[in-house]
Amino acid sequence: MRVKAVGLLSGGLDSAVACQLMLDQGIEVHVVHVSMPWGCGKPSRVTALAERFGIPLKVIPLADDYLSILKKPQYGFGSAHNPCVDCHIYMVKKAAEYMKEIGADFIFTGEVLGQRPMSQRRVCLDWVENDAGVPGKLLRPLSARLLPPTVPEEEGLVDRSKLLAIVGRSRKEQHTIAVAAGLKEFSQPGGGCLLTEKHFGARIKDVLAHGCDHIALTAVLGLGRYFRVDEDTFVLLGRNDRENDKLLEYAMSDDMILRSFTFFGPAALVRSRVLKEEHLALAAGIIQFYSKWRGEEPIVVNYWKSATPDEMSEITSLVLDEDAVGRMSKG
Ligand code: SF4
Repeated sequence: MRVKAVGLLSGGLDSAVACQLMLDQGIEVHVVHVSMPWGCGKPSRVTALAERFGIPLKVIPLADDYLSILKKPQYGFGSAHNPCVDCHIYMVKKAAEYMKEIGADFIFTGEVLGQRPMSQRRVCLDWVENDAGVPGKLLRPLSARLLPPTVPEEEGLVDRSKLLAIVGRSRKEQHTIAVAAGLKEFSQPGGGCLLTEKHFGARIKDVLAHGCDHIALTAVLGLGRYFRVDEDTFVLLGRNDRENDKLLEYAMSDDMILRSFTFFGPAALVRSRVLKEEHLALAAGIIQFYSKWRGEEPIVVNYWKSATPDEMSEITSLVLDEDAVGRMSKG
């Protein structure tokens, strides 16, 4: 029977090359992509890669159980609010569930020994494998010859001599393999996961401290300027036309949208557990502060509930000075 494996595909070069190495050994490859509302890997690249390889892709959206990792990861955070070791464990667990579901023989990832100071040290690779409950069943084809043989290697399901011994941050060898295989669909390394950005991490921390209990509620946090108005309420303000449109797209049904159709200025989203008129007046004031009407007479701003855009009302802004905006601003 053909050897079957489940790979984690991020859309980046490393996981793409890991797939290529497995396919080169005649292994039947299935891939899993854990999709995050704020991204690590581009979904379009993941789909393009799976199509390019002609392999089945299962996309698993991040679920609410990830919130406990964001609150208190067992292995701590990286330089921002990125719980990379726990995150890897989470993803490998998802791949492990799928491995059992489809009767695959092992899991593989594009992890490279020593590539990232926090999550790809040797000890971290062991933590991921053990805590995800797959001892001996997690193959890292790019660094495998520097690691103890896994069960599929010992059982001869995988030819260890054709695996690699890459260590560190250089991606020269991966690029050489990608070029030889004609692989172009991967995304370039770096960036992607907003959790690695300090300002976004601060927002996530703030909403968690204020009772956010659904991962879907965090999707909008990558947009705009962020203001904490009170314990129950925050405001997001678009910084350009794209973000103004995206705020509407990402709004939950109970969110309030504010936009002035008389005075040119940005759009705002207000999310509150206990919405009061003063929240709307403050949000209108923030819009005014970031428009050419700053410090002028109050302006009138239209607002509506995201779920019912046809039911529009008006609110007069509370004129805010720099100190008042600064106290609410969280980046
Ligand atoms: S950068 Fe870290 S936290 Fe972000 S998706 Fe990758 S492993 Fe997870």
